[in-house]
Amino acid sequence: MCGIVGYIGKNASIPFLLNGLKRLEYRGYDSVGLAVHDGSKIQINKTAGRIAALQDLTNRHPLSGCLGIGHTRWATHGEPNSINAHPHTGNKNMLAIVHNGIIENFDLLKKELSAKGHTFKSDTDSEILAHLFEENMNNGFDLVEAVRQGLNLVKGTYGLAVICDHHPDMFIAARLGSPMVIGHGNGENYIASDAAPFIGYTKDVTYLDDGEIAVVKNDSVTVKTIDDQVVNKSIHIIDTDLKQIEKEGYSHYMLKEIMEQPQTLRNTTRGRLLLEEGTAKLGGLENDIESLLYSRRIIITACGTSWHAALLGEYMLEELVGIPVEVEYASEFRYRNPILGDDTTVIAISQSGETADTLAAIREARRKRSKVFGICNVVGSSIARETDAGVYLHAGPEIGVASTKAFTSQVTVLTLITLLLGRIRSISTAQGRDLAQNLQAIPQHVETVLKNRKQIEQIAKEFQNVKNFLYLGRGYNFPVALEGALKLKEISYIHAEGYPAAEMKHGPIALIDENMPVVVIAIKDNTYDKIISNIEEVKARKGRVIAIANEGDTEIANKADKVIYVPHSREMFSPLLTIIPLQLLAYYIAINRNCDVDQPRNLAKSVTVE
Ligand code: GLU
Repeated sequence: MCGIVGYIGKNASIPFLLNGLKRLEYRGYDSVGLAVHDGSKIQINKTAGRIAALQDLTNRHPLSGCLGIGHTRWATHGEPNSINAHPHTGNKNMLAIVHNGIIENFDLLKKELSAKGHTFKSDTDSEILAHLFEENMNNGFDLVEAVRQGLNLVKGTYGLAVICDHHPDMFIAARLGSPMVIGHGNGENYIASDAAPFIGYTKDVTYLDDGEIAVVKNDSVTVKTIDDQVVNKSIHIIDTDLKQIEKEGYSHYMLKEIMEQPQTLRNTTRGRLLLEEGTAKLGGLENDIESLLYSRRIIITACGTSWHAALLGEYMLEELVGIPVEVEYASEFRYRNPILGDDTTVIAISQSGETADTLAAIREARRKRSKVFGICNVVGSSIARETDAGVYLHAGPEIGVASTKAFTSQVTVLTLITLLLGRIRSISTAQGRDLAQNLQAIPQHVETVLKNRKQIEQIAKEFQNVKNFLYLGRGYNFPVALEGALKLKEISYIHAEGYPAAEMKHGPIALIDENMPVVVIAIKDNTYDKIISNIEEVKARKGRVIAIANEGDTEIANKADKVIYVPHSREMFSPLLTIIPLQLLAYYIAINRNCDVDQPRNLAKSVTVE
């Protein structure tokens, strides 16, 4: 988490730095700061709070200079106050650093440096870096060597930028485990944690890899490994435009992203769905399809919302492809001793493509000789680069911290993979065509659900003050119950739990009374009658039921307190429709409770620390 930006060139650095931090704010928003070199010395503005607070501070205490770095923090070590805000300096104001990640041996290094006379101002792990580099410079190393030698002593992860008052002509960037991208301009260069700050400035970017250090000047970028070997990096072109990262009239990114789903789902399937042949074409998998097809089993690993998409992948792949699938939390998988090998294929899912636990799980799987496929949204991200093959979501930048459009696109990609593999192994042309046509119709059905948002807004008003929610679903809609509950928790701070509906009687039913609303996904599938019984069980205990049901289901209106209708679809596609009202319900409840839905407390979008 946390966002880093840096600028060197002929113009004032502040506009790029502030604008860039604003675009990275979704990565962390506990505190924020800037360090600018004015040609002779470094000046720092930093504060608790968000970019707006830094903007205010900078209006009151203007900084000027054509070299600067900035940081928006997601605290791991030390409270989110102004002292712990980055940039950090050493004993003197000679160096300023901004850091994303965790320095695991900071305690030890701190003791050693304290013994040498260094005094620490903050509670962060990051501050150690400034002192370490300064100490190396005191011992006669030049800046680049001081950083390189210092990083060789560090255990943990970093995305890092450093400026030094002796060097108004350069900054240093380094990466180990936390992303760092260099933007190439004309007589000016940039760095950032992802490419969003570059939009409108440059399309030419270089992705730093782990263990690389870049020296960035206004007319050159030199990259070396931490072992001092020169690396020739390639330049990639990014094609995101400004419109994609703006709110476009919506009050929040989250609402924009919910409303965008008909279009993002079309983008995810565009050119990939072969209606006549009843299959899918996925260029990214073409050369490696055999290893998936002949796997003895597939493991899908992910975190958070992506883990819920993975569960749906398990259901689809087992049903239609017939390969055993296991779904693993990446954070658990990486520290177990999973049984892998070349007969197991791993699929890793992450919106950002930078999730630290998922990346570590990928590395472990590759070490154990499994092929690893990635499903991610951000083009050029670490997961995209470190996997053997993969599929992009093409959902466009997702900025709201609570994932919405990425989830539906992840599920759609898993559906495409299922269709592709299923058609080779077991599905007939007729069944394949039927599935492909039904998938093609989903965006239009999503439009129908979105048109009904006024009703959901109304329901949200009635339920905004409750303390707990239960979400129930069965089969394909059990992962939707988990995802619906997660959305509500994330942005409204109401406690919510998702359960397989039949599990309710094994525990959660004890919680049900008139204060406990229960959201039940009750679409007309083969467990419909069972779920109606579950609704009766809730009603018998005075629970209030909000049902998500299929259009035309009149029976359910007699049982549930509220019914939100979604169009019919094949059962395996129903999550793409039933999740939409749950996203909207969470959104409207959070708005009514005056919560900051785009930047909920304690969360960050891209979880690049463990
Ligand atoms: N560990 C550092 C801190 O707590 C950086 C965290 C981050 O990546 O934002 O300040």
